[in-house]
Amino acid sequence: MASDEGDAFIHLDFRVDEDRRYIATGSLKATVQVVCQRCMEAVPQELSVDLSLAFVYDEDHAKNIPSDYDPVVMTDGDVILADMVEQEIILALPIVAYHEESGCNPTAVKYASSTDDAPDDEKKPNPFSILADLKAK
Ligand SMILES: [Zn+2]
Repeated sequence: MASDEGDAFIHLDFRVDEDRRYIATGSLKATVQVVCQRCMEAVPQELSVDLSLAFVYDEDHAKNIPSDYDPVVMTDGDVILADMVEQEIILALPIVAYHEESGCNPTAVKYASSTDDAPDDEKKPNPFSILADLKAK
């Protein structure tokens, strides 16, 4: 993530299911700043995640949770909601992000591409020319 800026809105409905599990279903909406892979500037990314959570006391209980739910292990009977939200956001983040085609910071793009001006051939020796040298000997 490019920064910690951004708001997260979370809505959860809590209930206890027939197996006396604590269940929470709802949604999470957040705007986070990720790095544009073209200009390396921050780009806001809106995330919307559906949540189906089952709160458990330890990892053993977590194994018994139906796969419809994401187990959330409570620490000392408490769950740190902020940590959970952060986890869900991280899971929902796109692997790569870009600005809209025209939305990139032009100076940043120019800078980023100017560092890569030299053709690759000039920087590193061509492995095939080394092979050719070997054959010639
Ligand atoms: Zn960009």
